[in-house]
Amino acid sequence: MSLLFNSTYASALPDLVSAVAVTPFAEPKLLAYSADTAALLKIPAEFFQQPDAAYYLSGKKLFEGSKPIAQKYAGHQFGQYNPELGDGRGLLLGDVQGADGKSYDLHLKGAGRTPYSRFGDGRAVLRSSIREFLASEAMFHLGIPSSRALSLVGSNEPVQRETIEQGAMIIRVCPSHIRFGHFEHCFYTGDKTQLKRLVDFTLQQHFPECLNAAHPALAMLQQVVIRTAELISHWQAVGFNHGVMNTDNMSILGISFDYGPYAFLDDYQPGYICNHSDHSGRYAFDEQPGIGLWNLNALAHALSPLIEVEDLRAALGLYEPTLVRHYMALMGKKLGLTTQQPTDRALIGQWLALLQQQQQDYTLSFRRLADFSDDALGSSVRDHMLDVAAFDQWASLYRARLTKENSSAAERKSLMNSINPLYILRNYLAQQAITAAEQGDTTPLHDLMQVLQHPYHEKPGKDAFAAPPPAWGKAMTISCSS
Ligand code: AMP
Ligand code: MG
Ligand code: MG
Repeated sequence: MSLLFNSTYASALPDLVSAVAVTPFAEPKLLAYSADTAALLKIPAEFFQQPDAAYYLSGKKLFEGSKPIAQKYAGHQFGQYNPELGDGRGLLLGDVQGADGKSYDLHLKGAGRTPYSRFGDGRAVLRSSIREFLASEAMFHLGIPSSRALSLVGSNEPVQRETIEQGAMIIRVCPSHIRFGHFEHCFYTGDKTQLKRLVDFTLQQHFPECLNAAHPALAMLQQVVIRTAELISHWQAVGFNHGVMNTDNMSILGISFDYGPYAFLDDYQPGYICNHSDHSGRYAFDEQPGIGLWNLNALAHALSPLIEVEDLRAALGLYEPTLVRHYMALMGKKLGLTTQQPTDRALIGQWLALLQQQQQDYTLSFRRLADFSDDALGSSVRDHMLDVAAFDQWASLYRARLTKENSSAAERKSLMNSINPLYILRNYLAQQAITAAEQGDTTPLHDLMQVLQHPYHEKPGKDAFAAPPPAWGKAMTISCSS
């Protein structure tokens, strides 16, 4: 196979990396891979049938040219600056050229201890590796910018968390692993030369369109602000709670990154906190837009040696209007609206209030609303409401709003079903796949992957994946340990 690795990051920024050898598993076992991530990297399907595929995908054998390194970064964790961060259990294997001509980093997560492991063991457990693998697939197929995952490899290696679990590794794939925390590290160590070098590298590799601007670093920051605002509007519209929006988990590319105790909302609870360890609710679902700006402020502060403060402020000022505009456009489409009216904001707000008051499933309610008809009271969304009168009140506003649209009910339904997923990665579905995989059965994992690859298209025989969670599945809390 002709997968040739480069060390673009390490060569350009040698002071920000440490060469580290992988600590391999004795008996790695390939459990799953993403066919379209493989295609993106020009890896033929036959590769995964090779007896030593799991060796390559867990670093026991290295791909040609691969020189594993750990990246140094820092970051704000729950609002507190921590200078001690870096790749503590993942190694950058290098970058390769994809089928689209773009360059992709391959990062092996769970590869053993590094100089940045602090008290950690350098490992990742099967549970959290499956969760990251599935989330990467789910987000991509929902059309939300995200890191990808190439492969999931399991092992017999015991890893101590609350209980003893199995060690696993995934290969994470994205154009860059540079986080806000990389810039913070350079800023807080007072190394302006290094900061400038990192900014120049990021510009050349990932924001070449900004190089011709009067002030390239400022143009890049503006782009990061805009992309982050757009990303978070996607999260809010789809009902995704990241759970650990520390600045070291924020990609400079504005993509969803570092999946930990995340959740897709079941019932619409705007204050939902998916992270069991987040006692103050800093990273609750409805806090995410504000935290996105907080994190961008931290990034802007780190760039202050290179950009004037008024320019930083102006760049940050792009965040809120971008987020609101994007979110409103997405929510309008989710309601089947192709035009925008001044009353839409209130209509959307009242719909969300209805879902919250009536404890309705966020995803399924939008899906059911696609059957709403302008002339009849009966619709499946109405049947699920606890307080039908409250729904009818909102429905009369919605019906009036629909008269201002030119589309037919059928057109509206098809628009709505193209933006409102039927299948999402509910935590209880992930948990079922995890429990089976821990017992050696990866069939549920593969079944779930298939469904998540076509989230908008109803598939015969897959009703169970579109069902609201059972009582045990609703009450789940997700451990932050991984
Ligand atoms: P996270 O909460 O996953 O964003 O990780 C925060 C920091 O802790 C990063 O620097 C990680 O590399 C490090 N870390 C997390 N888990 C481990 C582990 N098991 N061993 C070593 N370092 C870890
Ligand atoms: Mg992290
Ligand atoms: Mg993590």
